[in-house]
Amino acid sequence: MPVPRKERSAPPSRALEDYLEQIHNLIEAKGYARVVDIAQNLGISQASVTNMIQKLDAEGYLVYERYRGVTLTDDGRRVGKAIAKRHDILERLLTSFGIDQETVHQDVEGMEHHISKSTLKVLTLILEELEGNSELLKRLKKKME
Ligand code: CA
Repeated sequence: MPVPRKERSAPPSRALEDYLEQIHNLIEAKGYARVVDIAQNLGISQASVTNMIQKLDAEGYLVYERYRGVTLTDDGRRVGKAIAKRHDILERLLTSFGIDQETVHQDVEGMEHHISKSTLKVLTLILEELEGNSELLKRLKKKME
């Protein structure tokens, strides 16, 4: 088994997952992630972001260079991508039922950190079915009234 180069204490925390998710999204959208953009997206001060980024760098999730911004390591990308995917599936599923954006946002931000791989698979299958079957979705929405 390979020996990890850098020490990690616990499984990814919720805050850590949110950081890696945001950084992943920024890199996907803009090609780079700067502290100022991460701070804005997370609604956190730049100083706090810099602290956390340095910690994530020490733990091997990303590489931070002051003037070049943040890049994700393979581990960081894996976590960030997984959370972004959960976010997307959950958001699409709830939105398709017409749930208001604020509730969707609040629920998804919590659920994206807890949901297991198998549950995500189930919800993904349901979402795909619903997106391809507007009659079924209509019928279900009617039951919600
Ligand atoms: Ca999040």
